[in-house]
Amino acid sequence: MPFPRRDHTSPYEVASPVGEHLTRIAVGVLLVLGAFGFPYIAGARPWAVVAAAVDVPARLFIVWAMSMAWQRHRQAPEGGLLLLLAGSVLLDLLSALIFRTAVLGANEVLLPFGDVAQLLSYGFVIVGVLLLPRTSQWRSPTTTALDIAVTVGGFGLVVWFYLIRPAPQYGGYGAWLGAVTEIAYPVLDAALLISVLARFRGGLARLVPSARAALVTAVVATFVGDGFIGIAFYVARQPWMGYAVTLSHGVGLMALLLLAQTYRRAPCGLLAEGGTGIEPPLPPVSAAALTITLLAMGQEAVAGRTNLTLVSGAAVLGLVLVIRQLLGVRTNNRWLRERERQLDAEVRARTRELADVNAQLAELATMDALTGVANRRRFDTVLADMWSSGERAEQPLALLMLDVDAFKAYNDSYGHAAGDETLRAVAAAIRTAVKRPTDFVARYGGEEFVVLAAHTAEQGARQIAKMICDGVSAAALPHRASPVASCVTVSIGVAVCVPSRASTPAALCAAADAALYEAKRQGRNRVVVAADLPA
Ligand code: GH3
Ligand code: MG
Ligand code: MG
Repeated sequence: MPFPRRDHTSPYEVASPVGEHLTRIAVGVLLVLGAFGFPYIAGARPWAVVAAAVDVPARLFIVWAMSMAWQRHRQAPEGGLLLLLAGSVLLDLLSALIFRTAVLGANEVLLPFGDVAQLLSYGFVIVGVLLLPRTSQWRSPTTTALDIAVTVGGFGLVVWFYLIRPAPQYGGYGAWLGAVTEIAYPVLDAALLISVLARFRGGLARLVPSARAALVTAVVATFVGDGFIGIAFYVARQPWMGYAVTLSHGVGLMALLLLAQTYRRAPCGLLAEGGTGIEPPLPPVSAAALTITLLAMGQEAVAGRTNLTLVSGAAVLGLVLVIRQLLGVRTNNRWLRERERQLDAEVRARTRELADVNAQLAELATMDALTGVANRRRFDTVLADMWSSGERAEQPLALLMLDVDAFKAYNDSYGHAAGDETLRAVAAAIRTAVKRPTDFVARYGGEEFVVLAAHTAEQGARQIAKMICDGVSAAALPHRASPVASCVTVSIGVAVCVPSRASTPAALCAAADAALYEAKRQGRNRVVVAADLPA
C-alpha cells in the first residue's frame, strides 16, 4: 500500500477540519457496526454482508494509520512494533473475510485457510512479544520460562477441560483448532500490549494520557472480549455473549487506532529507554490463566464434581507460581544489594571529587594570584596559629618583613608589566631562600613580603634574611633607576620573640615594620633586627 510521505499530524487529515471530524465519526461508526454485525454471520445473511462491508474499510484504516505512525517512528525501537500490530490487524481481517465467505457460501473447505491467516496474525504478535524484551524491563530467562509455563499451562488446562475433553462440538473440522486460535489470540495480544506497558519506566504515568487510555482500553477490551467470554461463547453458544465479544473487539480496534494516532503525534519515541534490573511482577496474562483455571474448578465444585486432572494441574501451576515468586524475590534482593553497592561507590567517588575541588578552592582563596605565594588573609591566620604553638612550646618565632627598594622608580622606568614580572621573580627568590617546610612566605601588600619562621631565634632569622638578600641579588634583575645598586634589592626588617601573653602578634608585626623602616632609613639593601618588642 503506498503511504503518503508527508508528515501528517492525524490519520484523519483531509482538506477541511469539518471533513476531518466527519471522517473520524465515520470510522468510529464503521468499527461499531462491523463489531455488532459479527454475531449474525451464522444467521441472517444481510447483516453478515453489512458487517463485512463496514469491517473491511474500518480495519484497513487502522492498518493505514499504524503504518503512517511507523513512518514517523521508523528509527525508534517501538516503530517496528507498530508495523507488527498493523500486519496483525491486516491478517486478522483476512481471516475474518475468509470465515465470512466460508459461512455465507456454506463452504467449509475454506475454514482452514481462515485459521491459517488467524495463526499468522498471532505470529506477527508473537514476533513483537519476542522482540520487545530486548529493551523492556529486565526479565531473567528463568522467570520468563516460568511465566510462560503458568500462562500456557493455565490456558491449556482450561482449553482441554472445556473443549477437548468433551466430544468435539464443532463437527469434523476439529474443535481444538478453533479453540486454540480463539484463546491464543487474546493471550498473545494481551501479552504484547502488557509488554508495551512494562516498557514505560515509572509505569503508565510517563505516557501521554491518550496513549495510556488507548493501551489500557486495548488490553481490557481484548481480555474481556476474546478471553473469558470467548471461551464461554464457544461452549455455551449464547447470542448475548457474541454481542459482548464482538463489541469489545470493536472497542479494542478503536483503541489500537487511538494508539496509532498518539504515536503519530508524539515528537519522538514514546517508550522509555532501558529498564531496571528488577524482575517484574507476575504478568496479568499469567494471572488470568490461573484465574480461569480456578473458575473452572469453582464451576466443578458448584456442580458437586471433582476432576482430578484439573485439580492436580492447578496444584502444579500453583507450585510453579510459588517458585517463580520466590526466585523473583531472591533476584530482586540481589539486584538491589548490587545497586546499593554501586550507588555507595558513586557517592564515595563524588565526595572525594568534591573534597578535592573544595581543597583547590580553599587554596585559591588563600593564595596571591600574581606571585603564587600565600595572601595577606592566609598570613593573618598562620601568624595566629604559629603564635599559639610558639607560646605552648615556649619557642621563639621570627617575622621578616621585606620591601623592594625603589620599586616606584622601577615601575616608572620599566613599566608596570615588567614590575609585575619582577615581583614574581622576587617571590620565587624568597621561596628558594626559605628552606624549612615550616617556614611560611606571604605577600603582605604591594611590593612587600613577609616570612614567618617557627622555632627560630635572632641568629637563625638573620641567616634567613641574608639568604633572601643574596637570593634576590643572585637573580640579577636589572634596576637602572635604583639609587642603591644596579639590580633589584630588598630591605628587610626582622623581629623575633617568644610568644607570650605579655605581647601580641600585632606587636611583632609593628616591630618588624619599624625595623624595615630603619633599614630603609639607613640606606636600603640591608637587614635590620628590632632590638626590643614594643609591649
Ligand atoms: P622604597 O625603597 O622606599 O620602598 O621605595 P619604593 O618606591 O619601593 O616605595 P614604596 O614601597 O612606597 O612604593 C611601592 C610601589 O610599588 C608603588 C607601586 O607603584 C608599586 N607596586 C605596588 N604593588 C605593585 C604591583 O602589584 N605591581 C607593580 N608593578 N607595582 C606595584
Ligand atoms: Mg612598599
Ligand atoms: Mg619599596
